[in-house]
Amino acid sequence: MTDATDADAPGAAGDTATPPMISLRAVDKHFGALHVLRDINLEVPRGQVVIVLGPSGSGKSTLCRTINRLEPIDTGEIRVDGVPLPAEGRGLAALRADVGMVFQSFNLFAHKTIVENVMLAPMKVRKTKKDEARARAMELLKRVGIADQADKYPAQLSGGQQQRVAIARALAMSPKVMLFDEPTSALDPEMVNEVLDVMVSLAKEGMTMLVVTHEMGFARRAGDRVLFMADGQVVEDTDPETFFSAPESDRAKDFLGKIL
Ligand code: ADP
Ligand code: MG
Repeated sequence: MTDATDADAPGAAGDTATPPMISLRAVDKHFGALHVLRDINLEVPRGQVVIVLGPSGSGKSTLCRTINRLEPIDTGEIRVDGVPLPAEGRGLAALRADVGMVFQSFNLFAHKTIVENVMLAPMKVRKTKKDEARARAMELLKRVGIADQADKYPAQLSGGQQQRVAIARALAMSPKVMLFDEPTSALDPEMVNEVLDVMVSLAKEGMTMLVVTHEMGFARRAGDRVLFMADGQVVEDTDPETFFSAPESDRAKDFLGKIL
């Protein structure tokens, strides 16, 4: 989480040597006739935790997916740590390594053990040696509180545990940015907090995060900033306290009226 008063922090205003960790400039995207992202302009300083809110279909998932180039954009420019997103090829694999993503569905490899799931990408993409990849994977599993499950298979774990593995797997690539797209939406209520707690600790450690979530407690506790989207546009961009206590737009008022 960033502290706005800390002018010496990397990425703080005035530090011209440090580019924003994520920047989108005039980004537009269509799915056929559907204009799904409309002129998105966004700069996320390093260490900032951005909560993305908005009604279903407003473009939240598409926004996340464009940032690690799972979806190409029509026009505009996206940079991660100052580097424009490459179109294809090897640059793309490196970019995906820099931008970790955690989805609603955990997407673990069912036929691999938990520790193998976490070791895989570093070995394939970063060419990390097996022993080193295993040691690092165990460290990360410990960090998300499931080192004791390392040799089990995904189906033997609860949803909350699987989602924590998915977070560890993304962290194994030492990403600069973590994108979370409704990471707790598929979980039984009693498992939501164990995942949010891991995300809060990541935020405290200074990870730059973009989090699509309906967990308003988390948004207030961990968020530095709220982006409210509607119809492919960023309608409000403010701090959580202001957003929740004094939303400006009718769309946001309507949205909050339905979820709070
Ligand atoms: P959100 O995550 O806010 O619910 P999405 O980004 O998933 O919204 O979707 C925004 C709009 O784009 C929706 O109308 C959705 O149906 C449409 N959409 C999303 N993905 C695709 C796709 N691959 N092809 C066509 N339309 C899509
Ligand atoms: Mg979505």
